[in-house]
Amino acid sequence: MSKRVLITGAAGFLGSHLCDFFVEKGYRVVGMDNLITGDLDNISHLFGNKSFEFHHHDVSKFVHVPGEIDYILHFASPASPIDYLKIPIQTLKVGSLGTHNLLGFAMEKKARILVASTSEVYGDPLVHPQTEDYWGNVNPVGPRGVYDEAKRFQEALTMAYHTYHGLETRIVRIFNTYGPRMRLNDGRVLPAFIGQALRGEDLTVFGDGSQTRSFCYVSDLIEGIYRLLLSDCSDPVNIGNPDEISILDFASEIVKLTGTSQKVVHKPLPKDDPTQRQPDITKAREILDWEPKINRADGLKITYDYFRSLPKEKLYRKEHKDFEEYIRKPRS
Ligand code: UDP
Repeated sequence: MSKRVLITGAAGFLGSHLCDFFVEKGYRVVGMDNLITGDLDNISHLFGNKSFEFHHHDVSKFVHVPGEIDYILHFASPASPIDYLKIPIQTLKVGSLGTHNLLGFAMEKKARILVASTSEVYGDPLVHPQTEDYWGNVNPVGPRGVYDEAKRFQEALTMAYHTYHGLETRIVRIFNTYGPRMRLNDGRVLPAFIGQALRGEDLTVFGDGSQTRSFCYVSDLIEGIYRLLLSDCSDPVNIGNPDEISILDFASEIVKLTGTSQKVVHKPLPKDDPTQRQPDITKAREILDWEPKINRADGLKITYDYFRSLPKEKLYRKEHKDFEEYIRKPRS
């Protein structure tokens, strides 16, 4: 019998790609999501597949799935600054209570668990590029604190279950990732810029645009996560693409890519917006024999084609569909 894996946040951007990846590899996949920020359209193609089942559930509440589970990947969480500003308490709960529930569930099932951590644990980093042994520079009571501190607590709790209970745990620190199935209106820079270009709006660069990010294409990230899951490394590992770019230059790339005639306009820089971010991936290279393969030009082209192919309604949609509405809707 093939191994069975629980993926939380299954209807989200990364969760849905993980579901595809594991189904493709021959695993039995249990997807779980409360659909606050997830979108069932991301996994609707898996409905009806014998290797896939979906549980509509909030992991901040007690988690139970009958039968054996070999691996758990905890990817449930709002993940864009706008989302966690809108729903700060849920963000804190899913990183803390949700992680606690899943660690307990992993104990019960004798499963290995990998938790999705983030480059945000480094805050506005004073060390550049960021190595795993850097402790970070986070403002606990700033607007991003609800996400950053939840993820830092998640790491501490996961490590405690590992050292105290001997649970098999893995921690991935994910840097900015992009690709198809990002939500066009989630506020993150790439869907924001492409959405603006598609709607014929100006591109909004926050601050002077000198702040940097390093963008990893989603398939590279998923491969790195898989390798980490199967490795024997219980310490945190950065997975990301070290190709760093300023947000202003990134805006120029999107202008070129989309051929938009709109201009770049500047808006105030949000509080505590990190000034620089670039993963040091020496550890991933050495331990996992992993490095990203898709360059930004190729990844952006695929992502732009995806966003262009979406129905107009998604381009202008502000709210998420809920589960009840979704299952009532006839699907082709
Ligand atoms: N940003 C921007 N314009 C936008 C959205 C974001 O200039 O419309 C900037 C934001 O201030 C940050 C960077 O782009 O410096 C990346 O933001 P994002 O929300 O994608 O993720 P972060 O890396 O900050 O978590």
